[in-house]
Amino acid sequence: MVKKYRIGVLKGDGIGPEIVQATMDVLNALELDFEYVELYGGYEYFKKTGKVLQDDFFDVVKRLDAILKGPLYTPPHEKEFKSVNVLLRKELDLYANVRPFRSFKGFSLKDFNFIIIRENTEDLYLGLEGFYRGVALALKVISYEGAKRIAEFGFNYAKSNGFKRVTVVHKANILKVSDGLFRDVFFEVAKRYPELQADELIVDTAGYTIVKSPESLGVLVAPNLYGDILADVAAAVVGSLGLCGSAQIGEKMAVFEPVHGVALDIAGKGVANPIGELESAKLMLLYLSQKYSDYKLYEKALKLDVAVRKTVEELKVLTPDLGGDGKTIDVINSIIKLVQLSNA
Ligand code: ATP
Repeated sequence: MVKKYRIGVLKGDGIGPEIVQATMDVLNALELDFEYVELYGGYEYFKKTGKVLQDDFFDVVKRLDAILKGPLYTPPHEKEFKSVNVLLRKELDLYANVRPFRSFKGFSLKDFNFIIIRENTEDLYLGLEGFYRGVALALKVISYEGAKRIAEFGFNYAKSNGFKRVTVVHKANILKVSDGLFRDVFFEVAKRYPELQADELIVDTAGYTIVKSPESLGVLVAPNLYGDILADVAAAVVGSLGLCGSAQIGEKMAVFEPVHGVALDIAGKGVANPIGELESAKLMLLYLSQKYSDYKLYEKALKLDVAVRKTVEELKVLTPDLGGDGKTIDVINSIIKLVQLSNA
């Protein structure tokens, strides 16, 4: 029997609702056998209800196969409002944050295809901060188990996606204990994957390499904070934050969302680039196709990929972040047309 997938949809804040709706329109054009379940949460939801997530959020999520998510806002000025993104990562144990960066012809600085795999649950993001004798302190937490499972994830990802090189990113020359553990565990795990090249880059050199010679990279495995920062550098090398998608994967659940944030400066104007969200949806199709050995979903992901690339690279239907004067709807209409042509 063909599996019917249950997909949670959390539209999010800022440009989230616009780009998630646009993405759903494209998914519908792909004629997928999906049942969508709308989920509620985020800053706007909090302002209306006083809650950051709907009461039964985690019960509903237990019955889903994946979540498609828009960005969620964390206001820096409201100290009491903690990041819902971080809460979801912790509660759902989404330990691997996978961010593919592939060049777009005519927009990217070079021709490349590399992945940043960011450990998503530890490091400074635990938010263990405080004052001690008037000095502000933050705890950087790296566990053996955390470092091991992200390294294993990185090598397995490289193996099943045709990458030959896996690089650990760290600052172990300075942080000899915490980053030292992350690095050492990586090389311990590497011994089990002799067919792959395992090497290392100090985080500053990693930033330089992403800009200077991204074509030399394969899979980068990084602790939480470095992975976060490097991903934005990588997005700039691709050409726009608006072009990049991501997957956050745990043992039981996976959440797909764009690399960019809520882009409040353009929210509601109809000019947000929907491609980061679409790339995330593509990663969701690939994830489900791999998990359930569903070749049909793999084909749909390829169709989506071809339509997105043709729209940007050849037809040049572009939103302002890419130098065009197109609206979100123009990009989506072009992609839908191409998808429908490939369905015929
Ligand atoms: P957050 O606090 O959620 O990280 P932010 O506004 O600080 O939000 P981003 O949302 O990542 O950070 O935006 C950074 C810049 O990139 C903004 O100028 C924004 O307009 C632009 N940008 C981000 N995403 C898109 C997109 N999808 N389309 C067009 N421009 C975008």
